[in-house]
Amino acid sequence: MDRSIILFLILFCLSGLDAYSMPSDFSDGLGLSPAAERRIGDQMARSLYRDLDYLDDPIVQDYVNSIMAPLLAAARARGEIQPEMDDAYAWHVLLGKNKTVNAFATPGGYFGLELGLLAVTVSRDELAAVLAHELSHVTQRHLARMMAQQEQQTPWLIGAMILGILAAAKDGQSGSAVVVGGSAAAAQSQLNFSRDMEREADRIGFGVATQAGYDPEGFVTMFDKLYNANRLNDSGNFPYLRTHPLSTERMADMQGRLGVKATATSKTNAAASEDPMLEHTLMAARAKALSSSGVDAQQLLVAQANMKATTNNTSQAAATAYAAAMGAMQLRDWPTAQKQLLQLQSLVAGKPLSQRQWRYLQAEYLLATNQAAAAWDLLMLDANHRAGMWLRGQAALALQNQAQLRQCLIERRSWLVEHPSDALMWQQQSNMAVATGWTLGAMRAAAESKAAEMDIAQALERMRAAQAWGAKNPATSGDDQIELSIIDSRVRQLQSQLKDLQSSKM
Ligand SMILES: [Zn+2]
Repeated sequence: MDRSIILFLILFCLSGLDAYSMPSDFSDGLGLSPAAERRIGDQMARSLYRDLDYLDDPIVQDYVNSIMAPLLAAARARGEIQPEMDDAYAWHVLLGKNKTVNAFATPGGYFGLELGLLAVTVSRDELAAVLAHELSHVTQRHLARMMAQQEQQTPWLIGAMILGILAAAKDGQSGSAVVVGGSAAAAQSQLNFSRDMEREADRIGFGVATQAGYDPEGFVTMFDKLYNANRLNDSGNFPYLRTHPLSTERMADMQGRLGVKATATSKTNAAASEDPMLEHTLMAARAKALSSSGVDAQQLLVAQANMKATTNNTSQAAATAYAAAMGAMQLRDWPTAQKQLLQLQSLVAGKPLSQRQWRYLQAEYLLATNQAAAAWDLLMLDANHRAGMWLRGQAALALQNQAQLRQCLIERRSWLVEHPSDALMWQQQSNMAVATGWTLGAMRAAAESKAAEMDIAQALERMRAAQAWGAKNPATSGDDQIELSIIDSRVRQLQSQLKDLQSSKM
């Protein structure tokens, strides 16, 4: 099995110097307020959104969000997330379709998760452990604290260095060619969290994950896995192995904490966790398939299903069928995809979470084989979930069914009020508005999609174009009148956002 597990936990950090250009942002002695930190995070997010590896896969994204949400709730309940920070930060996980086993946090509460990491986790508890650790680096403001010590660098330069290291790490190179302002090693030495910070992120993360209801053993198994991989792969090609140290001492701390908790925490009911466990296995399989590129890799996924056809392990069989169906779909081998989907369907029977994952995959198959009407019907009960909503939207767009498209537009309106940073949904909203002939709505949604990806200049340009279009074409409906007033206020907001960004960059 391909288990080249490599941990790149990326260490993001901030300089107190930024405060000189934004004196009003001084707030807590760290030199950088949460709002100022968020602006740096936004700039980095803008680069991450544009990265070729960036992937908004609604199915994996929903799943990762479902693991993250209880962690955020627990961190709030424990007072780790203060109200000022809560409002200012993004709390958003961006997915990358790279095979590297990598997770990181940026200033301002963005998180990066490579599908390679999800693919090697065997339980939701393991994924939660990594996310809780990264979350705790953010809530403890390690990023701001660290760069308070780095007075010779501006945060913007640090941001650029981090992105350079990230890009190099993905290629499996030493990174020396990409990093701005010096060798990778020199940059790294400035970007290390201290051992105390690591221990704190472990300790706080452990408490948060446990309170959120995850099995504390996930911490131990995940860190054990990473530690072993670290020892096996410390060839110097992967700089982050050294910057995010996984010492035996930290491992011992974890084991110790588990000993204490084990008596207090009742063992999870095995039957009750069966469906979530299976769902996780399916999502890890999806991550593996999405991060496998090339015909050979896809063929291998299909071949594995044929080899393992006799396994007695339901979870393993389901994961293999899931990955094989995805591989077959990539290869446009529809009969094989259909066969694997039938196999999967029988294995998830009676398990609602896993069944939903089967429906999503089946819907993708139906959409890919010109059976959009069947996909629409299949997802009848999933319209309340983002992935279900998105897949149904794709079905309505494929069918160009006006009644369905209008229904989707109404559903999305309330979704987007609650989730204004959902770039993918704005993009789909824009396509739907085009399909229903609603020009103004389409123009604004396209602008909002750019704003959600932090491309404020583009967003403003498009919002102004919508404003100009509205001025030339008198509103014919109540919808248009509402839209026009929203557009006017969004133009003003984007102008001031752009001004903020430009002034804090100097
Ligand atoms: Zn760490």
